[in-house]
Amino acid sequence: MRNKVVIGNWKMNQNFSEAEELAIDIAEGIEDLNLKTEVILCPPFPYLEMLTDLAEESPIGVGAQNCSEHENGAYTGEVSASMLASLDVNFCIIGHSERRKYFKETDAQLAEKVNQLLKHETCPVFCIGELIEERKAEKHFETVENQIKQGLFHLKSEEFESIVLAYEPVWAIGTGLTATPEQAQEMHAFIRKLIEAKYGTEIAYNTIILYGGSCNAKNALDLFSQPDVDGGLIGGASLKKEDFLAIIEAAETTQREG
Ligand code: PEP
Repeated sequence: MRNKVVIGNWKMNQNFSEAEELAIDIAEGIEDLNLKTEVILCPPFPYLEMLTDLAEESPIGVGAQNCSEHENGAYTGEVSASMLASLDVNFCIIGHSERRKYFKETDAQLAEKVNQLLKHETCPVFCIGELIEERKAEKHFETVENQIKQGLFHLKSEEFESIVLAYEPVWAIGTGLTATPEQAQEMHAFIRKLIEAKYGTEIAYNTIILYGGSCNAKNALDLFSQPDVDGGLIGGASLKKEDFLAIIEAAETTQREG
């Protein structure tokens, strides 16, 4: 049975002491709750070690926001999957729409990043989602299908089992425009069917598919109540302790039996 997962993507926000305070507040907010929900924080690179230290004594997981597609070498400014693994970073967001847009990351590059992470036993959180023009032209399913096929469908079954997906309609990210629960469910069910056709029913059933895009303390419960929505990738609301804890509570409330 898939448990719910809530991931905070802090993006390029906060100085070190602000980040540390937020991380401690969140860790303290969940420490005695014995949650089934997996809570993962994705800070900027320089704060990862502070988070992995904290994670040794608290029930939080730690993820990066990106990694290089290269193993190592003369790539100034880059951070490799093996470096993340050496810090006990267990997750890494890949293919966020901001990286696709501002850093021109291609599907081929993203597929290589996924390969690097799997090689170093780090779980990729693979983001997919359509632009507003694509939704208006009713091409949103086609866009998402292509992103998944090109970024992930080269993987063997045993590799795909280590992937978390995040459906993030680009028009909903940071805009305050959230997908309706019905729109999210429709796309998540479509994604699960694609996975089933390629990897079979069991893997499709077990794959965690998160929703992201202006998910907040008010709408999380409705979104997470959908049968194929397994939690959220949260941007803005993950920077506010109360809001993020309320989103975690929504995930816990909607945990499936079993
Ligand atoms: C994100 O950046 O992954 C995201 C979902 O952002 P926001 O929640 O702010 O829309």
